[in-house]
Amino acid sequence: MLLEVRDLHVEFRTRDGIARAVNGVTYGVDAGETLAVLGESGSGKSVTAQAVMGILDTPPGRITGGEILFQGRDLLKLKEEERRKVRGAEMAMIFQDALSSLNPVVCVGDQLGEMFVVHRGMGKKDARARAVELMDQVRIPGAKERVKDYPHQFSGGMRQRIMIAMAIALEPALIIADEPTTALDVTVQAQVMDLLAELQREYHMGLILITHDLGVVADVADRIAVMYAGRIVESAPVHDLYKAPAHPYTRGLLDSIPRLDQKGQELYAIKGLPPNLMHIPSGCAFHPRCPMARDVCRTDVPPPYEVSEDRASACHFWRECLDG
Ligand code: SF4
Ligand code: MG
Repeated sequence: MLLEVRDLHVEFRTRDGIARAVNGVTYGVDAGETLAVLGESGSGKSVTAQAVMGILDTPPGRITGGEILFQGRDLLKLKEEERRKVRGAEMAMIFQDALSSLNPVVCVGDQLGEMFVVHRGMGKKDARARAVELMDQVRIPGAKERVKDYPHQFSGGMRQRIMIAMAIALEPALIIADEPTTALDVTVQAQVMDLLAELQREYHMGLILITHDLGVVADVADRIAVMYAGRIVESAPVHDLYKAPAHPYTRGLLDSIPRLDQKGQELYAIKGLPPNLMHIPSGCAFHPRCPMARDVCRTDVPPPYEVSEDRASACHFWRECLDG
């Protein structure tokens, strides 16, 4: 395994109490594999990724348990300096909002080139040439002319390509993309997602795609981990999960995707709101919203039940759910 997160716990101390953002997350991704992490906002998907990257704001965010094994090393045991070397060179992150991640007063060529100057000791001229190559590679038209342009001179989609170029510049083993296409319109979303998938195959990277939108990741992910209230409630190969979800929450998410063959029908929406992380419901955290909930759901936390060799569901009644 390239990356293995084991039983990770993260909490945030706030004035009003402790928010339990991540409550025992275990997941892994291999080289050349794409894992989609799916959930509503506040499910803990971004916080888990930030813990992996080592960019959790501390305080108030605090890792209170677990391991993050990357190429066999526990990142939580590294000194900050070693950690910094891993970040950027061996793993990189792409965020939703390229405009706020890029420096507005430095031209994109210099921002891309700086990666090679800082990490590879290249001279400015060579670094600039590499920047043009990278822009070509992420298919920014007219890279040679545009290398001196500033971030605001690019469209949203092109800016996101520049972010992808930055992320792959040093050929990291792992890329984490947090809602990389959410700010873009639908056709551009698909193009950016295709590009990411293509580069991932070419470099044989591990890719973690964080999203709230199951539709966006369906074509590119190998596996999906569905998160709710800081836990993974279902994890499965993407096609299995689509065919028959083994958790009522996943079923709700699937039923709320618009489908061409159901035009005109009213879309299903999961009732209620995601839980307050300072007061996570007892038993199964999903029980107040679950159409299948029974008494035991209010008292007993469902463990990750093994559905098949490469599939798990944290629902006491996963069998019933699977049978539809
Ligand atoms: Fe619903 Fe109970 Fe399954 Fe939780 S354990 S998802 S409440 S049926
Ligand atoms: Mg987020």
